[in-house]
Amino acid sequence: MDDYYDVAIVGSGFGGSLMAMVVRRLGLSVLLIERGKHPRFAIGESTSPLTNLLLEQIAERYDLPRLIPLTSYGPWQRTYPEVVCGLKRGFTFFHHEAGQPYRMAADRGNQLMVAANPNDELGDTHWLRSDVDAFLVREAADIGVDYYDQAALDQPQRNGDGATLTGRHGGQPFQTQARLVVDATGPRGFLSKVLDIPEDPFSDYPKTQTLYSHFTGVRRCDSMAAFQPEGIPPYPLDDAALHHVFDGGWMWVLRFGNGVTSAGVAVTDAVAESLALSDGEPAWHRFLERYPSIGEQFADAKAIMPFVYAPRLAYRAAKSAGPGWVMLPSAAAFIDPLFSTGIPLTLLGIERLGRILSESWSSGDLDARLQEYSRVTRFESDATADLISGSYAGMRDFPLFAALSMFYFTAASFSEMARRLNPSLVRRYLVADHPEFGAGMRRCAEMLRRRLNGTATMTGAGSFFADVADATSCLNVAGLSDTRKQNWYGVDLADVIDSAAKLGFTRLEMRRVLEEAPWAAGCPLPSV
Ligand SMILES: Cc1cc2nc3c(=O)[nH]c(=O)nc-3n(C[C@H](O)[C@H](O)[C@H](O)COP(=O)(O)OP(=O)(O)OC[C@H]3O[C@@H](n4cnc5c(N)ncnc54)[C@H](O)[C@@H]3O)c2cc1C
Repeated sequence: MDDYYDVAIVGSGFGGSLMAMVVRRLGLSVLLIERGKHPRFAIGESTSPLTNLLLEQIAERYDLPRLIPLTSYGPWQRTYPEVVCGLKRGFTFFHHEAGQPYRMAADRGNQLMVAANPNDELGDTHWLRSDVDAFLVREAADIGVDYYDQAALDQPQRNGDGATLTGRHGGQPFQTQARLVVDATGPRGFLSKVLDIPEDPFSDYPKTQTLYSHFTGVRRCDSMAAFQPEGIPPYPLDDAALHHVFDGGWMWVLRFGNGVTSAGVAVTDAVAESLALSDGEPAWHRFLERYPSIGEQFADAKAIMPFVYAPRLAYRAAKSAGPGWVMLPSAAAFIDPLFSTGIPLTLLGIERLGRILSESWSSGDLDARLQEYSRVTRFESDATADLISGSYAGMRDFPLFAALSMFYFTAASFSEMARRLNPSLVRRYLVADHPEFGAGMRRCAEMLRRRLNGTATMTGAGSFFADVADATSCLNVAGLSDTRKQNWYGVDLADVIDSAAKLGFTRLEMRRVLEEAPWAAGCPLPSV
């Protein structure tokens, strides 16, 4: 360890290691400090098209070509078969009633499938974080990041131009100086504790808890009679982030390629209390008894690690930057695993911070820029929390939940296309700063919350669906919110061509662009 680093990063999850690589590529010296040791379990596994595009763009901007194969399933399998991941073709949702086996409604009103990519080759992934994080920390060390694991840090002492870091590593004390300390230790993490930063909870957000583990022997839904689709679904049901939704919560089921499945429930305090969730494994079995078709899916499943119970999921720190320190978005706030928002929010933070360091490291406005970073980080996490709290309010009544989810899918597909084709249209996460779209999203989420707490009635799911369709139409480039599709949304490039004007193209121009685009390879193109 040297006695001075430009940047010290605390925490070597994927976020800390990637940030360290970015800093190194900017020509700065960087120390990465981890209290544990890789490989180790971590949660936060499911990616999305925007996640993978952000990773690709960071890898390209900072000359990290070895990370590019991690951005889609086919190249990952060919390049790093030893780093385990799972195939994610889309987002699958089934709605359950307590005590009742799942039966698909004739109009598919109790399920939703939204494809995220056109084929396995271009598929998204679930990251087995123990493998992925260990891979990334090795990559960081290989490009010159100094890495200290099994380290215990004391409170940093601020001085002149930075902070003195002291602690112990391998039983020995150490001391070094850093101009900037980046906290990548996750919610309620290192700087929150040592700087005594209070929690500032999201407003209007339900109190939620979680219980999860990794399993073997989880059945595929497409092998079970209860979930048999009628017709050909947009992608195989289970090659997805599979969600079981019920009143007051939901469950994720993410399959990896090595036979292991990640599964867990996120539920309101009321549901958690009814299950005595803090009991761990016995509560898990009570949950499976309550929802028979989920119970059948897990009938032969075995947990391969102890259950993790967290009494509180969401978190927002009152501050996320100050003179000489800054938190990654994942340390500043966490909302819920729903819609896989944690990793993209973190990547957006890394992108933002990388730009600030490259532009302002040597100028006098670094601290002011960190304040700007902090405001954006908060805006993006608040917008996500607002949508997810509305989603919790809709979980009892699936058509409302599915309708509200169209804001997420519209924002995600628009953001991906804008980043690929017309960066001048790129906005904040969930496009929440778009005047019409953002206001519509807040209004519709609020409508569901008010309905749940009894302060408002609604005219019915049909009119709510129409409201959402109207509010999302300005950015809808993926044929979403279409009743004719009966909740099955495949990838159809005709939708992108039909929406070319929303992305600043004519139909003909868009067709030409799509013909050439490697990320659209294998998708049939309509003539225009
Ligand atoms: C139940 C659950 C499910 C989730 N599912 C998803 C999902 O499917 N998709 C998605 O996009 N996001 C998901 N998330 C969010 C996701 O987990 C985070 O966004 C992501 O892990 C953030 O990565 P990170 O590297 O910043 O932090 P982390 O992964 O939390 O890593 C933090 C690292 O810091 C180390 N550390 C902690 N304290 C110290 C210390 N004092 N000193 C040194 N090192 C320390 C830890 O050992 C760890 O290695 C989920 C979160 C939860 C809670």
